[in-house]
Amino acid sequence: MYNGNIILLGAPGSGKGTLGKQLAEKYGYTLISTGDILREEKKSGSDIGKKINDILGKGNLVPDEIVNQIVENKLKNFEGQFILDGFPRTVPQAQFLDTISDIGLVIFLDVSDNTIRERILERGKTSGREDDQNVDIINRRIIQYKTETQPLVEFYKFKKILSQIDGENSIQEVFNLVQNIIKLWN
Ligand code: AMP
Repeated sequence: MYNGNIILLGAPGSGKGTLGKQLAEKYGYTLISTGDILREEKKSGSDIGKKINDILGKGNLVPDEIVNQIVENKLKNFEGQFILDGFPRTVPQAQFLDTISDIGLVIFLDVSDNTIRERILERGKTSGREDDQNVDIINRRIIQYKTETQPLVEFYKFKKILSQIDGENSIQEVFNLVQNIIKLWN
């Protein structure tokens, strides 16, 4: 059974957050979501929070230096195993992560563009997130995903630590598939 650190990779709306919560609960992982941390920072109204607000409101990615710093602070003095949801999102972030931690499993949730749009809009009805409700912002997030984040699939395939899951499956099915991977992964 695998008991090291895990990265959840996938487009916005692919199910990373839901899966991360299930895995954290079942196996006792600490879940680290950079999106959640950035939204907290935004709420605080700090200078950096205002900058983040502008970036999130456009559907763009927060600069690598800022996000890397956030993750480094989280992982500094951290004990136990963690799951990263939403980080890394760029190749430089992945290279940075390599220098500060050890990752043995990347779960890639593969979903179609149509599913992404449908799920994000559905989530927007209750999440209160502006970036889940505005079609232009959603489209921008999808473009950013394709150009900046998707190259990480090859990056981690090359390292032989990528496990690809069909994210079109139901929540329960995805969870079952991932539990099997964790059982068999070494
Ligand atoms: P999420 O909750 O993961 O969908 O993230 C919401 C937003 O936060 C994204 O659309 C980005 O603007 C920003 N964000 C989250 N994680 C990262 C990251 N690793 N790098 C850059 N921006 C990020």
